[in-house]
Amino acid sequence: MAKILTEREVSEIMSQLSVEQRKFILENSKQSKKAKWLEVLAIFKGIDIQNTMTLEEVESYIDDWVLVDILDSGYGNKNYQCECGNPLRYQYIVMNKKKQMTFGFGKTCLSNHTNLSTELVKDILNGFHKIDLERDEILLKVFKGELFNLKPYLNLENIPQVIIEQVNLGLPLLNKQIYQLEEMKQEYDKRKCHERILDGLKSEARLAFEGFPKPVQQEMLRKMVNNEYIRNVPTGFQDDEIEWLLSLGLPLLEKHQRKIFTYYQKQKLEKEMQQQLELEEYYAPYREKNITRINSGIATHISPISVIDYQTLKERHSTTLKAIHAHQDRLSTGNKKEWERIISMIRQLKEGGEFDYSSFKLNINMICFQLHIERDYYLY
Ligand SMILES: [Zn+2]
Repeated sequence: MAKILTEREVSEIMSQLSVEQRKFILENSKQSKKAKWLEVLAIFKGIDIQNTMTLEEVESYIDDWVLVDILDSGYGNKNYQCECGNPLRYQYIVMNKKKQMTFGFGKTCLSNHTNLSTELVKDILNGFHKIDLERDEILLKVFKGELFNLKPYLNLENIPQVIIEQVNLGLPLLNKQIYQLEEMKQEYDKRKCHERILDGLKSEARLAFEGFPKPVQQEMLRKMVNNEYIRNVPTGFQDDEIEWLLSLGLPLLEKHQRKIFTYYQKQKLEKEMQQQLELEEYYAPYREKNITRINSGIATHISPISVIDYQTLKERHSTTLKAIHAHQDRLSTGNKKEWERIISMIRQLKEGGEFDYSSFKLNINMICFQLHIERDYYLY
């Protein structure tokens, strides 16, 4: 596994620390390893550990080998011995709780001399390695002089004791500790901001707010923070709850906004349909005359059918025709019929048949109006 610092580098940086700093790092690392040992054992034995439990409490549930201490001969020395005789720098003092007997082992021998499975020991040692990496992260920051300024965070309640102690000793923080503080600060700032907003509410509004279920409160707070207020509703719109919220100066919820939007849409649609109806009524006489003329096939000298060939028609109107085609599912019933008639007219023209150009232009104009489509130049 990758290491941040070599053993020599660790020893060198450690030697530059004050006695208190060194003691803190060693103690912290040892405590973390004891905790890790118990945690892995508890997981293997299926024991449920609660966050609130102390090390001793967890230990009392474990009727097996526990880690008592880790002895260190110091860099370059091997002053300890495993039960099997191997010389060691680090000796792991473990106790068999059933037999109440204590032994000193090297880490590679841990599973040889105990009944702990190799898998379990591997998990423990992986955990130890991560703890060593964290120690190295701190030492590397010491080496680079990366100290942490706790001042902006001091108004936070519940800063973990270990962080305060670490900073007071002039030791850097781990990145994960910095993230932890940052998260706590964001939570704190959010809470303060919410408090400020709620304090600014009128007393009736505040009372109403307190009565809402949690999810509603959260949605409202979010809207108040982002200043997402709707102050006006469309004329004719009626909803008691919405009126009440508006009178209290509270933001409307998503469901209210949807209600208003639906109302708007309906109103717009009705208006458009009304216009469409008026237009169709206006053009009706002309349209009927054209249809009659086509049906009877009579071309009079008073209103001659304009002459156009298929190629010219395509050149003039293909953009408009394509646009209508793309939106044909939005056509009104009346216009849908006209559109179908236009298509068959064009087909006839292509096959050399007769074509009523003015009727074509009239109907295309109406369709464009209904679909809000830009008309080509020849349609004006
Ligand atoms: Zn051994």
